[in-house]
Amino acid sequence: MKTLIIATGNTHKTGEFAQLLASLNYSVQSAAVCGGMPYVEENGSSFAANAELKAKALRAAAPAEAWILADDSGLEVDALNGAPGIYSARYAGEKASDKDNLEKLLAALSGVLEAKRTARFRCALCVIGPDGRSHFYEGSCKGYISLSPTGCTGFGYDPVFIPEGYSQSFAELGESVKDRLSHRAKAVAAFMAEA
Ligand code: IMP
Repeated sequence: MKTLIIATGNTHKTGEFAQLLASLNYSVQSAAVCGGMPYVEENGSSFAANAELKAKALRAAAPAEAWILADDSGLEVDALNGAPGIYSARYAGEKASDKDNLEKLLAALSGVLEAKRTARFRCALCVIGPDGRSHFYEGSCKGYISLSPTGCTGFGYDPVFIPEGYSQSFAELGESVKDRLSHRAKAVAAFMAEA
């Protein structure tokens, strides 16, 4: 069986990927099997470019026969001209926590009416096989930013993101709903259709 190593140090993401990839005929492992996710300077100008930087960094530390899957993802808010975008993880600063980022987002949207708070999560995947070639897949999930955080599952901006067609946040809806709708789920489905 082929081995697929998830190139992230984010345990929430590893968990989501393990769930989403459960029916794939690969042995799915975390970056811990290569000694952990190496530090990567995410200086690409797109989600796909940053995903490829992460995949290549782990490729260098992984067994030659393994497949590597990396993602880069983030939130684009229309009223903020697409911010925080590729800077989602460090929106409130290099060492910002999820709470810092979320508070900065709500402050930036203060006074913006619900109808104008449209947003989307985006995810780019880069998969590199033993031949070293990069393969790219994308997924997005539309919704809007609520006025205040609700719910306690998930991570990042989940407590303020209401997916289209729902009235609760991803953090309230929980894993099983998120695994059906999310940007990550759609990108993984595109990869699995080819794998
Ligand atoms: P990355 O780990 O460099 O791809 O950074 C992604 C950042 O985007 C995370 O730190 C979160 O702030 C945000 N993000 C990406 N996907 C999600 C999600 O599914 N829920 C909530 N926030 C997310």
